[in-house]
Amino acid sequence: MERKHEYQTKSRQMILDYLIRNKDRAVHVSDIIRHMDQEECSVNKTTVYRYLDKLVAEKTLMKYVADKGEKAGYQYVEQPSRCQKHLHLQCSECGKVIHLDCDFMKEISEHILSDHGFTLCCKDSILYGVCDECSKKEKKQKNKIR
Ligand SMILES: [Zn+2]
Ligand SMILES: [Zn+2]
Repeated sequence: MERKHEYQTKSRQMILDYLIRNKDRAVHVSDIIRHMDQEECSVNKTTVYRYLDKLVAEKTLMKYVADKGEKAGYQYVEQPSRCQKHLHLQCSECGKVIHLDCDFMKEISEHILSDHGFTLCCKDSILYGVCDECSKKEKKQKNKIR
């Protein structure tokens, strides 16, 4: 029993380390499982889900659920309270997440409230698109084809 507990603590720590190292993007459960396999510390899916849910509840992680019931993405957040106040942009190519933590965000929410009487709730909201790097890559590829 003791040993099982030790193993669990170790694998949880490795999952958390992985999430911290990848804090600029949202990772999927399959990424975590693959990483753990590479580290030769296999974990089962249920354990990973249970641990991630716990971290989401503690607000250590943000959970993004793509529409159409696609797999969820998880991202480590350093300042959870701030992330509730802005939207996030996720690159659908590389998974990178950009925090829309700027004055424009204030402008949008003020406009939405004053003109539409709507209080924006940013929690878990994410907009999808293509990041700067990936759109440059795409352009390069198009040029090559030509
Ligand atoms: Zn944020
Ligand atoms: Zn990208």
